Amino acid sequence: MLKLRSTALSIFSTSGSINLRGIWDSIRSQREKVLWHNLIWFPLHIPKFSLIAWMTLLNRLPTRNRLLKMGITTEGTCVNCNNDMETRNHLFCHCPLAVRLWNSILSLNGLKNATSTWDEMVTRASSTWKGKSLLTTILKIAWTAYVYILWEERNCRIFKGRHRSTENLLKVIIEAVRIQLKGRNINRTDRTNYNLCIAWDLD
Ligand SMILES: [Zn+2]
Repeated sequence: MLKLRSTALSIFSTSGSINLRGIWDSIRSQREKVLWHNLIWFPLHIPKFSLIAWMTLLNRLPTRNRLLKMGITTEGTCVNCNNDMETRNHLFCHCPLAVRLWNSILSLNGLKNATSTWDEMVTRASSTWKGKSLLTTILKIAWTAYVYILWEERNCRIFKGRHRSTENLLKVIIEAVRIQLKGRNINRTDRTNYNLCIAWDLD
């Protein structure tokens, strides 16, 4: 609350007049950052994955849509499908490659397919991936890996002209989850944990 108060005060002092909309936007974005924090900086996070996911949450990735608006590029098409404008929402939620990859991850976790926008995906994740269960930990590792690998694949295609299949990208994510959870004490008498161990090939 102190942080929010100082944010509000800084708006008063810089604008010289009361801008309620500005205050609200600022407080809301602070609250969102607190919620996102737990999705990204959890005990078993992988730094390079979390960094890209954090930049994506803050909308700081130089997507082609943003570069177009800045006049830096004239090419706006997503290279992961060559079918639509490369926005954050498209690249991580609506692109067929993203949809296939995310649905494969959900399916390994015994969860149903879900189509959503970026904002819906993040809101759902921050409100449901809580606690320290194996499922929550896997979801967080896999989600940050998913964001990272889609961005990496996009860069590979643009700068190196190399393509990987959905299966190969999924393998990278599964391996990352396996390595992070290697040697961890998992209670396998729990049915969900047992199924997760089999699906993700955890030893
Ligand atoms: Zn695409």
